[in-house]
Amino acid sequence: MKRAIVYISVIFISLSFSFSALKSDIESQNYKPYVVILSMDGFRWDYPEKAKTPNLDYIEQIGVRAEASIPCFPTKTFPNHYSMATGLYPDNHGIVQNSFYAPDIKKSYSISNREAVRNPDFYFGEPIWVTAEKQGVKSASYFWVGSEAPHDSIFPTYHYDYDGSVPFEERIEGVINWLNLPDSIRPHLIMWYLQEPDGIGHDLGPNHPEMINMVEYLDSLVGVFYYKINELAIAENINIIITSDHGMGEISEYRVVYLDSLVPKHWCKHIDGANPVYSIEAKEEYYDTIFNILSNTEHLTFWEKDNVPERLHYGKSNRVKDFVLVADSSWSLLKSSTKRAYSGGTHGYDNKNKDMHAIFYASGPAFKKAYKSKAINNIDIYPLICRILNLKPIIVDGKIESTEDMLK
Ligand code: AMP
Ligand code: ZN
Ligand code: ZN
Repeated sequence: MKRAIVYISVIFISLSFSFSALKSDIESQNYKPYVVILSMDGFRWDYPEKAKTPNLDYIEQIGVRAEASIPCFPTKTFPNHYSMATGLYPDNHGIVQNSFYAPDIKKSYSISNREAVRNPDFYFGEPIWVTAEKQGVKSASYFWVGSEAPHDSIFPTYHYDYDGSVPFEERIEGVINWLNLPDSIRPHLIMWYLQEPDGIGHDLGPNHPEMINMVEYLDSLVGVFYYKINELAIAENINIIITSDHGMGEISEYRVVYLDSLVPKHWCKHIDGANPVYSIEAKEEYYDTIFNILSNTEHLTFWEKDNVPERLHYGKSNRVKDFVLVADSSWSLLKSSTKRAYSGGTHGYDNKNKDMHAIFYASGPAFKKAYKSKAINNIDIYPLICRILNLKPIIVDGKIESTEDMLK
């Protein structure tokens, strides 16, 4: 018992020591580490094996490549970017789908609703830029999901409202400009975002020849970005992470289940989500009927909210409805039969489906060289960045033990 108290006091003293050391470092401008993290939406773990990616290959040689970054369920854009930012499962950070009704605040969220995206009441947990700002470390976001809403009234010091039409080259310039700011106002954490190759992935599918062109174009942008980073005086203090929110699965117009032909809209209070993953709140009198119909439907899996497998960490939030439905791999589940079925790609499937896994590369002074890591979970990125920047993390679902082997 006595020994435990000694250990705890030692840990506490060393934590507060490193924390106050960080504060005085920042004040005296001796604070060195930088993390610049890029997410390229929908960049599947194996695209670099299908296309020529000399720049990503170079990062792999001089730094770390993980076999994959495994997204949270549902494998959609907003839940996963916010999981990377907070270290929390969607159940715990509140963004449980790209679109959903939140009974706790009686409001609907959707990624195309600017007012909702900016409303802090939808977001729980503490995004890493807020952890940084609270500890005196300036941060910047060029379109990272969630950074348009304040948390505890705090935004990243620098941030923009999302505008997908801003050319990717301009975003690189923006990031480099931040790194060229004078010492006292320069951000040490920068998070930026490109919405490809997700767009091409949806339109044409992950196996289309145009996907190879897009991946090679994005790799060339990574090359430009790297070149510009290396020209900076502070280059040797900069850690780069390049990752993505999820992968992409091929779908066909001939493999479709229509939700409204199984469960008419008027049987439901709410239908959240989009192809291929939904959560449905039944009107009480239709609960059993819906359960029986879904039990006899092929090409999809469904669970009652309380019976979602533990490994998916999904269903405890009051924003997840009675039934969680997900199409089988390569199948579409469309809300309405008035919607035209299409061939191309989608994501949102079970995260054990490898097609949903994303890339993860990293390099810089904190990382080992030429190190191959096992697949990581994207909730582990928050503790990883905290470790590199010497920030004291809040308690999250992600664990530093999962990624610390890649650090020097
Ligand atoms: P998904 O439906 O999961 O494929 O979402 C990807 C889409 O999210 C992309 O087409 C982006 O344009 C869009 N997106 C990404 N970030 C934002 C944002 N901050 N606000 C609105 N839309 C966004
Ligand atoms: Zn995405
Ligand atoms: Zn997408």
